[in-house]
Amino acid sequence: MRLRASLACLAAFAPAVTGAQSTLSGAEQRIRETVEKSHEQAVTYLQKVVNIPSNTLKFAGVKAVGMVFKASLDSLGFTTKWVTLPAEVGRAGHLVAEHKGKPGAVRIMLIGHLDTVVEPDGPTWVRTDSIAKGVGTGDIKGGDVVILYALKALQAAGSLKDMNISIIFTGDEEHPGEPLAIDRKDLIDMGKRSDIALAFEGGNKSDVTVARRGASSWRVTATGRQGHSAGVFSPGAGYGAIYELARIVNGFREQLAGEQYLTFNVGTIVGGTDVDYDTVGVKGSAASKLNIISKSAIAHGDLRFISEDQKERTRNKMREIVAKHLAGTDAKITFLDEYPAMAPTPGNLKLLEYYDGASQALGYGRVEALDPGRRGAGDISFVGPILDGLDGLGAIGTGSHAPDERVNLNALKMQTERTAIFLERIGKLPSTNFSRTPASGNH
Ligand SMILES: [Zn+2]
Repeated sequence: MRLRASLACLAAFAPAVTGAQSTLSGAEQRIRETVEKSHEQAVTYLQKVVNIPSNTLKFAGVKAVGMVFKASLDSLGFTTKWVTLPAEVGRAGHLVAEHKGKPGAVRIMLIGHLDTVVEPDGPTWVRTDSIAKGVGTGDIKGGDVVILYALKALQAAGSLKDMNISIIFTGDEEHPGEPLAIDRKDLIDMGKRSDIALAFEGGNKSDVTVARRGASSWRVTATGRQGHSAGVFSPGAGYGAIYELARIVNGFREQLAGEQYLTFNVGTIVGGTDVDYDTVGVKGSAASKLNIISKSAIAHGDLRFISEDQKERTRNKMREIVAKHLAGTDAKITFLDEYPAMAPTPGNLKLLEYYDGASQALGYGRVEALDPGRRGAGDISFVGPILDGLDGLGAIGTGSHAPDERVNLNALKMQTERTAIFLERIGKLPSTNFSRTPASGNH
């Protein structure tokens, strides 16, 4: 018993020691120098991809940015392909790249994207010293360049050849095509053959994302017996659909509000005698008379959660509240999954320890976990249920999703160094150090 306990203790402690290694080894120092030497080249590269407008629905632009990265990854020895999506999904596609290293070494998945929210007419890059302004500089082309230049430094150091690295740059992160199960199939499949996922959405100097809330929607449809208003609340006529729906949404607020990381919002509500509601456009109309007990009412809202467990518990409570109908009414609730949650697993925190160790060894200070409430859902969320990972490893800047987006180029170098040293430290360790076992996947 005692031996087993001390072994378990050692096993738990071992990665922390490596992760917290507080100085750079000679090899790591050389990796850092490679990143420093290639910094201006990385900035020029970023300028090139920023100046190709690639709003999500501008397919040619999205693919053109993808082709620039494809050529670079080909030259690093990756096997690359452009994934075309079925026409009904209506999106440009994704860039996928694979690099096989030592069998048994951790399989790392890197996530970026090629599209932007803002749609510029042409080149937007303007550099002033260490600040670059341009659409997509931070979200997320800077993050994509962090990935590329970290990998280049690892290749120069001779480390990349041993590493198992898969990359996906989605073409529609900002406005995903539907159905998500088809649109994100390649991302999820890559997750199934990887041990960890690292995403390069915009970051900060002193924190990374270890958890992101998931997003879903719900819709309650209530019905009542149409009749003369004089009889409302009587056993025969009942309460009508609108009172039933009001009871339900008020019940949600009274019984569910306040739990940490859980939010649910009623986006819209429509009720009356003749009700039309468009669930896709989220718009509707209602008509009735003031002396009619309402026949139909619909409420539509979202539900954000930190774990599948929280999502399911909440849905069950919502179903219970719905089921306690007022006299003469009925109601049903339906749920639609959008983004799963990336829960704050022990494995995510272990990766943070390694990243923090790399940052400190480089002299960039401590890195802690960002409050999950401050991040919406992202592409890493789709593999959150299967893999441990980190997000927010990308560029540091301001104004994402806005025309005056800008990025700090000195921080771009810091992020590239941190990613390179982090990958150097974890990339050759056994897969079993990181793969989520069924027991630890229980969260
Ligand atoms: Zn993004």
